[in-house]
Amino acid sequence: MLERLNVLEKEALKTLKTTSDSDALAEWQKRYFGKKGALTTLLRSVGDLPAEDRPAFGKAANQVKQRLETAYEAHARDLRQAEVERSLERDRLDVTLPGRPIGPGHLHITTQTLREYFAIFAEMGFQVYEAPDVETDVMNFGMLNMPPHHPARDMWDTFYIDDDVILRTHTSPGQIRVMRERYPEPIRVVLPGKCYRYEQITARSEHQFYQLEGLAVGHAITMTYLIGTLTEFARRLYGPDRRLRIRSSYFPFTEPSIEADMDCILCAGAGCRMCKYSGWLEIAGAGMVHPVVLRNGGYDPEEWGGFAFGMGVERPAIVKYGIDDIRLFYSNDLRFLRQF
Ligand SMILES: [Zn+2]
Repeated sequence: MLERLNVLEKEALKTLKTTSDSDALAEWQKRYFGKKGALTTLLRSVGDLPAEDRPAFGKAANQVKQRLETAYEAHARDLRQAEVERSLERDRLDVTLPGRPIGPGHLHITTQTLREYFAIFAEMGFQVYEAPDVETDVMNFGMLNMPPHHPARDMWDTFYIDDDVILRTHTSPGQIRVMRERYPEPIRVVLPGKCYRYEQITARSEHQFYQLEGLAVGHAITMTYLIGTLTEFARRLYGPDRRLRIRSSYFPFTEPSIEADMDCILCAGAGCRMCKYSGWLEIAGAGMVHPVVLRNGGYDPEEWGGFAFGMGVERPAIVKYGIDDIRLFYSNDLRFLRQF
Protein backbone atom coordinates (compact mmCIF):
# COMPACT_ATOMS: atom_id res chain seq x y z
CA MET A 1 0.00 0.00 0.00
CA LEU A 2 2.76 2.45 0.89
CA GLU A 3 4.43 1.53 -2.36
CA ARG A 4 1.26 2.39 -4.29
CA LEU A 5 1.12 5.67 -2.44
CA ASN A 6 4.67 6.53 -3.54
CA VAL A 7 4.00 5.64 -7.15
CA LEU A 8 0.86 7.70 -7.11
CA GLU A 9 2.66 10.73 -5.70
CA LYS A 10 5.42 10.59 -8.30
CA GLU A 11 2.97 10.17 -11.14
CA ALA A 12 0.77 12.93 -9.86
CA LEU A 13 3.67 15.40 -9.57
CA LYS A 14 4.89 14.47 -13.02
CA THR A 15 1.53 15.00 -14.72
CA LEU A 16 0.99 18.21 -12.75
CA LYS A 17 4.07 19.69 -14.43
CA THR A 18 2.59 18.97 -17.87
CA THR A 19 -0.66 20.82 -17.23
CA SER A 20 -0.42 24.10 -19.08
CA ASP A 21 -3.79 25.76 -18.61
CA SER A 22 -6.62 26.06 -16.12
CA ASP A 23 -8.73 23.39 -17.87
CA ALA A 24 -5.96 20.84 -17.67
CA LEU A 25 -5.37 21.83 -14.07
CA ALA A 26 -9.02 21.26 -13.16
CA GLU A 27 -8.85 17.91 -14.91
CA TRP A 28 -5.75 16.96 -12.85
CA GLN A 29 -7.45 17.98 -9.65
CA LYS A 30 -10.46 15.83 -10.47
CA ARG A 31 -8.24 12.92 -11.41
CA TYR A 32 -6.52 12.75 -8.01
CA PHE A 33 -8.74 14.58 -5.55
CA GLY A 34 -12.19 14.06 -7.07
CA LYS A 35 -14.82 11.76 -5.51
CA LYS A 36 -13.54 8.90 -7.62
CA GLY A 37 -10.00 10.31 -7.82
CA ALA A 38 -6.95 8.12 -7.40
CA LEU A 39 -5.86 9.51 -4.06
CA THR A 40 -9.38 9.54 -2.66
CA THR A 41 -9.84 5.92 -3.61
CA LEU A 42 -6.52 4.94 -2.05
CA LEU A 43 -7.32 6.75 1.18
CA ARG A 44 -10.71 5.06 1.34
CA SER A 45 -9.01 1.66 1.09
CA VAL A 46 -7.33 2.16 4.48
CA GLY A 47 -10.10 -0.01 5.90
CA ASP A 48 -8.70 -3.02 4.00
CA LEU A 49 -5.40 -2.88 5.91
CA PRO A 50 -4.63 -4.81 9.07
CA ALA A 51 -5.36 -2.59 12.11
CA GLU A 52 -1.68 -2.22 13.09
CA ASP A 53 -0.67 -0.84 9.69
CA ARG A 54 -3.42 1.72 9.53
CA PRO A 55 -1.80 4.59 11.55
CA ALA A 56 1.43 4.55 9.54
CA PHE A 57 -0.42 4.43 6.26
CA GLY A 58 -2.82 7.17 7.34
CA LYS A 59 0.07 9.43 8.32
CA ALA A 60 1.94 8.81 5.05
CA ALA A 61 -1.20 9.31 3.00
CA ASN A 62 -1.93 12.63 4.66
CA GLN A 63 1.62 13.82 3.99
CA VAL A 64 1.32 12.85 0.34
CA LYS A 65 -2.03 14.65 0.17
CA GLN A 66 -0.52 17.79 1.66
CA ARG A 67 2.51 17.74 -0.65
CA LEU A 68 0.28 17.31 -3.67
CA GLU A 69 -1.99 20.12 -2.56
CA THR A 70 0.97 22.43 -2.03
CA ALA A 71 2.37 21.52 -5.45
CA TYR A 72 -1.07 22.10 -6.97
CA GLU A 73 -1.39 25.56 -5.43
CA ALA A 74 2.09 26.54 -6.57
CA HIS A 75 1.52 25.31 -10.09
CA ALA A 76 -1.87 27.07 -10.30
CA ARG A 77 -0.18 30.31 -9.22
CA ASP A 78 2.50 29.89 -11.91
CA LEU A 79 -0.13 29.29 -14.58
CA ARG A 80 -2.06 32.41 -13.57
CA GLN A 81 1.10 34.45 -13.65
CA ALA A 82 1.99 33.11 -17.11
CA GLU A 83 -1.51 33.94 -18.33
CA VAL A 84 -1.17 37.53 -17.08
CA GLU A 85 2.16 37.86 -18.84
CA ARG A 86 0.73 36.49 -22.05
CA SER A 87 -2.20 38.93 -21.97
CA LEU A 88 0.16 41.83 -21.29
CA GLU A 89 2.18 40.80 -24.29
CA ARG A 90 -0.92 40.36 -26.42
CA ASP A 91 -2.51 43.71 -25.43
CA ARG A 92 0.73 45.61 -25.47
CA LEU A 93 0.23 49.35 -25.93
CA ASP A 94 2.56 51.48 -27.89
CA VAL A 95 2.34 54.66 -25.86
CA THR A 96 4.51 56.48 -28.39
CA LEU A 97 1.83 56.25 -31.11
CA PRO A 98 0.18 59.59 -31.89
CA GLY A 99 -3.45 59.88 -30.75
CA ARG A 100 -6.44 59.88 -33.07
CA PRO A 101 -7.49 63.47 -33.59
CA ILE A 102 -11.06 64.41 -32.65
CA GLY A 103 -12.20 66.98 -35.19
CA PRO A 104 -14.01 70.06 -33.95
CA GLY A 105 -17.74 69.98 -34.70
CA HIS A 106 -19.43 72.57 -36.85
CA LEU A 107 -22.93 73.86 -37.49
CA HIS A 108 -25.35 71.77 -39.50
CA ILE A 109 -25.92 73.01 -43.04
CA THR A 110 -29.53 73.91 -42.14
CA THR A 111 -28.39 75.98 -39.16
CA GLN A 112 -25.83 77.71 -41.34
CA THR A 113 -28.54 78.59 -43.88
CA LEU A 114 -30.90 79.83 -41.16
CA ARG A 115 -28.20 82.08 -39.71
CA GLU A 116 -27.50 83.50 -43.15
CA TYR A 117 -31.22 84.26 -43.46
CA PHE A 118 -31.34 85.82 -39.98
CA ALA A 119 -28.40 88.08 -40.75
CA ILE A 120 -30.00 89.38 -43.97
CA PHE A 121 -33.40 89.96 -42.40
CA ALA A 122 -31.84 91.53 -39.31
CA GLU A 123 -30.29 94.17 -41.56
CA MET A 124 -33.80 94.88 -42.83
CA GLY A 125 -35.08 95.31 -39.27
CA PHE A 126 -36.62 91.86 -38.68
CA GLN A 127 -36.36 90.26 -35.25
CA VAL A 128 -36.29 86.47 -34.75
CA TYR A 129 -39.38 85.12 -33.02
CA GLU A 130 -39.55 81.49 -31.94
CA ALA A 131 -42.89 79.70 -31.63
CA PRO A 132 -43.53 76.18 -30.33
CA ASP A 133 -43.33 73.04 -32.48
CA VAL A 134 -46.34 71.54 -30.70
CA GLU A 135 -49.45 73.53 -31.48
CA THR A 136 -53.17 73.35 -31.09
CA ASP A 137 -55.36 72.57 -34.04
CA VAL A 138 -56.98 75.99 -33.59
CA MET A 139 -53.68 77.87 -33.82
CA ASN A 140 -52.34 75.83 -36.72
CA PHE A 141 -55.55 75.98 -38.78
CA GLY A 142 -58.55 77.73 -37.26
CA MET A 143 -56.91 81.07 -36.46
CA LEU A 144 -55.31 81.05 -39.91
CA ASN A 145 -58.65 81.14 -41.63
CA MET A 146 -58.99 77.37 -41.93
CA PRO A 147 -61.94 76.32 -39.75
CA PRO A 148 -62.66 72.58 -39.38
CA HIS A 149 -63.66 71.01 -42.71
CA HIS A 150 -62.03 73.83 -44.66
CA PRO A 151 -60.84 72.16 -47.89
CA ALA A 152 -57.40 73.82 -47.63
CA ARG A 153 -56.61 71.56 -44.67
CA ASP A 154 -56.10 68.83 -47.23
CA MET A 155 -52.95 70.64 -48.33
CA TRP A 156 -51.26 69.48 -45.12
CA ASP A 157 -51.27 65.94 -43.79
CA THR A 158 -50.97 66.36 -40.08
CA PHE A 159 -49.47 64.51 -37.11
CA TYR A 160 -52.18 64.56 -34.45
CA ILE A 161 -51.19 64.08 -30.80
CA ASP A 162 -54.84 64.11 -29.78
CA ASP A 163 -57.96 65.76 -31.23
CA ASP A 164 -56.72 69.25 -30.41
CA VAL A 165 -52.94 69.01 -30.19
CA ILE A 166 -50.75 68.58 -33.26
CA LEU A 167 -47.23 69.04 -34.54
CA ARG A 168 -47.33 72.29 -36.50
CA THR A 169 -47.55 71.77 -40.24
CA HIS A 170 -46.13 75.23 -40.96
CA THR A 171 -44.57 78.12 -39.04
CA SER A 172 -47.63 80.33 -39.64
CA PRO A 173 -49.31 79.78 -36.23
CA GLY A 174 -46.41 81.85 -34.88
CA GLN A 175 -48.01 84.83 -36.68
CA ILE A 176 -51.01 84.70 -34.33
CA ARG A 177 -48.75 84.28 -31.29
CA VAL A 178 -46.51 87.21 -32.11
CA MET A 179 -49.44 89.48 -33.00
CA ARG A 180 -51.22 88.76 -29.72
CA GLU A 181 -48.00 89.38 -27.82
CA ARG A 182 -46.99 92.60 -29.58
CA TYR A 183 -50.35 94.38 -30.11
CA PRO A 184 -50.61 97.34 -30.55
CA GLU A 185 -47.02 97.66 -31.77
CA PRO A 186 -46.10 97.34 -35.44
CA ILE A 187 -44.36 94.04 -36.14
CA ARG A 188 -41.40 92.96 -38.21
CA VAL A 189 -40.28 89.42 -37.38
CA VAL A 190 -39.01 86.23 -38.95
CA LEU A 191 -40.24 82.96 -37.46
CA PRO A 192 -37.88 80.02 -38.00
CA GLY A 193 -38.67 76.45 -37.12
CA LYS A 194 -39.24 72.85 -37.91
CA CYS A 195 -42.52 71.78 -39.46
CA TYR A 196 -44.02 68.33 -39.60
CA ARG A 197 -46.16 66.60 -42.18
CA TYR A 198 -47.59 63.12 -42.06
CA GLU A 199 -46.00 62.01 -45.30
CA GLN A 200 -44.22 59.08 -46.81
CA ILE A 201 -40.48 59.70 -46.52
CA THR A 202 -38.78 59.58 -49.90
CA ALA A 203 -35.75 61.16 -51.51
CA ARG A 204 -37.95 64.14 -52.36
CA SER A 205 -40.11 64.51 -49.26
CA GLU A 206 -39.40 64.34 -45.55
CA HIS A 207 -41.92 64.35 -42.71
CA GLN A 208 -39.95 67.15 -41.08
CA PHE A 209 -38.30 70.22 -42.56
CA TYR A 210 -37.46 73.81 -41.72
CA GLN A 211 -39.32 76.92 -42.73
CA LEU A 212 -38.65 80.55 -42.27
CA GLU A 213 -41.74 82.68 -42.02
CA GLY A 214 -41.74 86.47 -42.24
CA LEU A 215 -44.39 88.80 -40.90
CA ALA A 216 -44.71 92.57 -41.07
CA VAL A 217 -47.71 94.40 -39.64
CA GLY A 218 -48.12 98.17 -39.84
CA HIS A 219 -50.37 101.00 -40.85
CA ALA A 220 -49.28 101.50 -44.44
CA ILE A 221 -47.95 98.18 -45.63
CA THR A 222 -48.53 97.34 -49.26
CA MET A 223 -47.63 94.54 -51.65
CA THR A 224 -44.77 96.70 -52.88
CA TYR A 225 -43.03 96.33 -49.52
CA LEU A 226 -43.44 92.58 -49.71
CA ILE A 227 -41.95 92.33 -53.19
CA GLY A 228 -39.19 94.76 -52.23
CA THR A 229 -38.31 92.72 -49.15
CA LEU A 230 -38.15 89.44 -51.09
CA THR A 231 -36.12 91.01 -53.89
CA GLU A 232 -33.67 92.50 -51.42
CA PHE A 233 -33.37 89.16 -49.67
CA ALA A 234 -32.64 87.32 -52.95
CA ARG A 235 -30.06 89.93 -53.95
CA ARG A 236 -28.24 89.86 -50.61
CA LEU A 237 -28.17 86.08 -50.61
CA TYR A 238 -27.43 85.37 -54.27
CA GLY A 239 -25.97 88.57 -55.72
CA PRO A 240 -27.10 92.06 -56.75
CA ASP A 241 -28.28 91.09 -60.25
CA ARG A 242 -31.08 88.76 -59.18
CA ARG A 243 -34.53 89.39 -60.61
CA LEU A 244 -37.84 88.31 -59.11
CA ARG A 245 -40.93 87.03 -60.83
CA ILE A 246 -44.27 87.14 -59.04
CA ARG A 247 -47.07 84.68 -59.73
CA SER A 248 -50.51 84.74 -58.20
CA SER A 249 -51.28 81.87 -55.87
CA TYR A 250 -53.60 80.83 -53.08
CA PHE A 251 -53.10 80.47 -49.32
CA PRO A 252 -56.03 80.64 -46.89
CA PHE A 253 -54.22 83.10 -44.61
CA THR A 254 -53.13 85.67 -47.21
CA GLU A 255 -55.18 87.75 -49.65
CA PRO A 256 -54.00 88.28 -52.27
CA SER A 257 -51.46 85.44 -52.30
CA ILE A 258 -48.37 85.19 -54.45
CA GLU A 259 -45.41 82.97 -55.14
CA ALA A 260 -42.04 84.50 -55.81
CA ASP A 261 -39.48 83.02 -58.22
CA MET A 262 -35.92 84.17 -58.68
CA ASP A 263 -34.03 83.92 -61.96
CA CYS A 264 -31.86 80.80 -61.85
CA ILE A 265 -28.50 81.42 -60.18
CA LEU A 266 -26.79 78.95 -62.46
CA CYS A 267 -28.09 79.86 -65.92
CA ALA A 268 -29.47 83.36 -65.17
CA GLY A 269 -32.78 82.44 -66.79
CA ALA A 270 -31.52 80.61 -69.87
CA GLY A 271 -32.65 77.22 -68.56
CA CYS A 272 -30.58 74.41 -67.04
CA ARG A 273 -30.93 71.21 -65.08
CA MET A 274 -31.02 73.02 -61.72
CA CYS A 275 -34.09 75.08 -62.66
CA LYS A 276 -35.59 72.20 -64.64
CA TYR A 277 -35.10 74.30 -67.81
CA SER A 278 -37.62 76.92 -66.67
CA GLY A 279 -35.01 79.60 -65.91
CA TRP A 280 -36.64 80.26 -62.51
CA LEU A 281 -36.27 78.96 -58.95
CA GLU A 282 -39.12 79.25 -56.49
CA ILE A 283 -38.03 81.07 -53.32
CA ALA A 284 -41.16 81.90 -51.33
CA GLY A 285 -44.90 81.69 -50.94
CA ALA A 286 -46.29 84.99 -49.68
CA GLY A 287 -49.12 87.49 -49.62
CA MET A 288 -50.92 90.21 -47.74
CA VAL A 289 -52.09 89.03 -44.33
CA HIS A 290 -55.76 88.04 -44.56
CA PRO A 291 -58.11 90.37 -42.61
CA VAL A 292 -59.42 87.38 -40.64
CA VAL A 293 -55.90 86.52 -39.54
CA LEU A 294 -55.16 90.12 -38.53
CA ARG A 295 -58.34 90.18 -36.48
CA ASN A 296 -57.49 86.84 -34.83
CA GLY A 297 -54.14 88.33 -33.87
CA GLY A 298 -55.90 91.32 -32.30
CA TYR A 299 -55.21 93.87 -35.07
CA ASP A 300 -58.15 95.72 -36.66
CA PRO A 301 -57.86 95.14 -40.44
CA GLU A 302 -59.51 98.52 -41.02
CA GLU A 303 -56.48 100.20 -39.46
CA TRP A 304 -53.69 97.69 -39.93
CA GLY A 305 -52.24 95.82 -42.84
CA GLY A 306 -49.45 93.29 -43.16
CA PHE A 307 -47.52 90.94 -45.37
CA ALA A 308 -46.26 87.46 -44.70
CA PHE A 309 -43.98 85.06 -46.51
CA GLY A 310 -42.70 81.56 -45.99
CA MET A 311 -39.61 79.95 -47.44
CA GLY A 312 -37.85 76.63 -47.29
CA VAL A 313 -34.51 76.39 -45.53
CA GLU A 314 -33.23 73.10 -46.93
CA ARG A 315 -34.19 74.09 -50.49
CA PRO A 316 -31.35 76.59 -51.19
CA ALA A 317 -28.73 74.06 -50.06
CA ILE A 318 -30.37 71.39 -52.22
CA VAL A 319 -30.20 73.71 -55.22
CA LYS A 320 -26.77 75.12 -54.46
CA TYR A 321 -25.02 71.79 -53.83
CA GLY A 322 -27.13 69.55 -56.06
CA ILE A 323 -28.25 67.38 -53.11
CA ASP A 324 -30.50 64.73 -54.58
CA ASP A 325 -31.89 63.19 -51.38
CA ILE A 326 -33.58 65.34 -48.73
CA ARG A 327 -33.29 62.54 -46.17
CA LEU A 328 -29.56 63.28 -45.91
CA PHE A 329 -30.38 66.39 -43.86
CA TYR A 330 -31.67 64.25 -40.99
CA SER A 331 -29.68 61.04 -41.28
CA ASN A 332 -26.63 62.29 -39.33
CA ASP A 333 -24.25 60.75 -41.83
CA LEU A 334 -20.91 62.42 -41.13
CA ARG A 335 -19.75 61.89 -44.71
CA PHE A 336 -22.61 64.21 -45.74
CA LEU A 337 -22.36 66.68 -42.86
CA ARG A 338 -18.58 67.20 -43.13
CA GLN A 339 -18.95 68.63 -46.64
CA PHE A 340 -20.45 71.87 -45.45
ZN1 LIG B 1 -31.13 77.37 -64.51
